[in-house]
Amino acid sequence: MTSILDARDLTVEIPTEDGIVHATEKVSFSVEEGSLFGIAGESGSGKSVLTQAIMGFLPNAAISGQVTFEGEDLLTLSRRRLRTLRGARIGMIFQDPLSSLHPYYTIGDQIAEMIHTHEKVSRKAARERVIAMLTRVGIRDAAHRFDDYPHQFSGGMRQRVMIAMALILNPPLVIADEPTTALDVTVQAQIIALLDEMRRELGTTVIMITHDLSLLSSIADRVMVMYAGNRMEIGPAGTLFSAPVHPYTAGLLNSSPSRYTPGAMIEPITGRPPSLLSPPKGCVFRPRCAKAMDICRKPPPLRRYDDGTQALCWLETESAAAEAAATGDIP
Ligand code: SF4
Ligand code: MG
Repeated sequence: MTSILDARDLTVEIPTEDGIVHATEKVSFSVEEGSLFGIAGESGSGKSVLTQAIMGFLPNAAISGQVTFEGEDLLTLSRRRLRTLRGARIGMIFQDPLSSLHPYYTIGDQIAEMIHTHEKVSRKAARERVIAMLTRVGIRDAAHRFDDYPHQFSGGMRQRVMIAMALILNPPLVIADEPTTALDVTVQAQIIALLDEMRRELGTTVIMITHDLSLLSSIADRVMVMYAGNRMEIGPAGTLFSAPVHPYTAGLLNSSPSRYTPGAMIEPITGRPPSLLSPPKGCVFRPRCAKAMDICRKPPPLRRYDDGTQALCWLETESAAAEAAATGDIP
């Protein structure tokens, strides 16, 4: 399988009045063509910042690393080139469609505008394409609804419109940031199913960002779990959900109303995520980790497993075992 997007050591630091926010710390991941790659973590874990940095939405941040997409390093592209890529090569879906849609333009015109910005086509041809796409994403009577305004749609329907807009230019990659957070549970499931169906039909690669890890269990191929700007665990969804190796992933799974282990006890992770102005030294999860050892005061290594899982953790390492033997601790 070839990867469509490759991030290497992506570090984002954002200057604020209170100091520098260490938003992400050397995050590496690669997304395989045609797959659904999930990024999960609590709010403030850096998951949105990652994609905002990639898309050039953080002009004031200090960003280092490399993000290769179709042979180009996105971090070194001009604003002009990035603007061309957005929409045409990388579609985006955000949490709140109302803030992404212009209230004074009709739904149809806004999607058609996407086409006109990137392609030379007649108004009639663009209109037909938009109507066809709106129909595909489940907007009934799309020919009439073309001329409706965003406020005339329900939240779920607006998110369908956003999906149509993200897919109208048939970009190879779509980034969906909390696409269903503002919706109620039933509609949420419909939108997730629609996204999954569309990406299979069109062969689109999707990066889906969510605070709700369980949302990814049925659709993601690989999942990356973020915490305090660090990539804690990354691996095939199947094993990540059934046998997480990182204590934080295990904690997240235990603390969410789970759809994968019905009836299981919900145990919240105690404590709060650290301030990213001064993240803990060593393992950032140490203050909340029930399995923390002395050695966790040092930056943890990246453990690699045969199935492609990687975890940023001292557990199951020889150094941890050696140190525990020396100090009499049990790792
Ligand atoms: Fe817990 Fe240590 Fe692993 Fe961090 S490195 S998650 S503190 S066991
Ligand atoms: Mg976010």
